[in-house]
Amino acid sequence: MQALAGIDDSEELSSVSGPRRVTVLGATGSIGRNTLDVIRHFSAREDFRVVALTGMANVELLAAQAIEFGAEIAVTADEEKYHALKAALAGTGIEVAAGSLALEEAASRPSDWVMAGIVGIAGLAPTLAAARAGGTIALANKECLVSAGDLFLAECASSGSAVLPVDSEHNAIFQVLEQNQRHAVERIILTASGGPFRDWPMARMADVTPQSAAAHPNWSMGMKISIDSATMFNKALEMIEARHLFAVEPGQIEVVIHPQSVIHSMVGYADGSVLAQMGSPDMRTAIGFALAWPRRAHVPVERLDFAKLSRLDFEAPDEQRFPALRLAREAMTAGGLAGAILNGAKEAALDAFIEGKIGFLDIARAVEDTLDHLGPGEEPDTLEAVFEADRSARETALKLMVA
Ligand code: NDP
Ligand code: MG
Repeated sequence: MQALAGIDDSEELSSVSGPRRVTVLGATGSIGRNTLDVIRHFSAREDFRVVALTGMANVELLAAQAIEFGAEIAVTADEEKYHALKAALAGTGIEVAAGSLALEEAASRPSDWVMAGIVGIAGLAPTLAAARAGGTIALANKECLVSAGDLFLAECASSGSAVLPVDSEHNAIFQVLEQNQRHAVERIILTASGGPFRDWPMARMADVTPQSAAAHPNWSMGMKISIDSATMFNKALEMIEARHLFAVEPGQIEVVIHPQSVIHSMVGYADGSVLAQMGSPDMRTAIGFALAWPRRAHVPVERLDFAKLSRLDFEAPDEQRFPALRLAREAMTAGGLAGAILNGAKEAALDAFIEGKIGFLDIARAVEDTLDHLGPGEEPDTLEAVFEADRSARETALKLMVA
């Protein structure tokens, strides 16, 4: 295919001299596998040195990835998987480690670019370790910002670590934000597919199973984020994420249901202009954007065909059936530790739903009850305060779910 005028596809992607050092936290997950796919694709034009790859349960895949990419170290977060990983990498010269401290140590090894692709609050400590080491953080994990937004961003600022949003909505906003016009940003409009139960009546939603909740209509993602999309807690987390990333007030963040997932989000400016970023629902665009940044490079995703697309729909979210959005707005307004509590309670309730202990509609109920019970608390000034709030939110949610 002929290159577009102005885009020289033969150019090296990075200005770093020598191979670019990259680390993928959560390499075995949906984001991690997509990231390695993009690295594989970019490798035709750029030299990468893979420093660390991490996973948890899937050590067979982790070992295969470490061998393919010649990683310096492979780490499983699960200490019980150490021997299996060690055996799978015997004779390769690749270092092997296990456990949460090893994960943080590997994350803190000098890297130019780190993908934060671990799911849940478990991603916070390793992502912070990577941020303290000063490399660019490609941030897929949203819980770092939801639970510890100000602390996390302050750590990144003090180490000089750039944060590039990978969550597709925030990546879209980042792409269309005109940096010199920040004062004129009126609103951030997050699009939401509405998930598989977008137009279901409440009575029918009460009986859904984890399997049907995990079947996202447009995006292929890990199980937990897919179920979060069905409850719209994913969008709730994304509202809080946007507040921190783009320093906007809660009242400036809107959510609109857009079932086709073609517009990935929008920014509204003071003159009435609305800028949108569009693309196929494929995370490799956002990942490729973050890996090539500040340039753009070829990413092999399906191109939008507007003739086939024919229509884009929009509707207001129904906060009766999806209370998560209201809870996010209340948590943002309350401040303090409300984000950490909302997320901790949500993770506990989500696990309980996956284990069949509570129903689908009980997830939001448990989060709301936990927030009411604990109150927002003080703004945290240490990470320990965030972990403590997370622990107590889980405990409280579990108790309230049983009651
Ligand atoms: P997955 O469940 O597919 O993958 C999660 C990764 O984290 C796996 O490598 C998993 O290892 C590892 N992991 C799981 N638990 C732990 C733990 N306790 N400690 C350390 N590592 C752990 O998740 P996704 O890739 O879908 O999502 C990753 C993050 O990115 C989430 O925060 C999500 O919200 C966010 N995100 C994801 C998108 C997507 O398209 N998937 C889109 C936007 C944001 P193993 O599999 O070996 O057990
Ligand atoms: Mg998203």
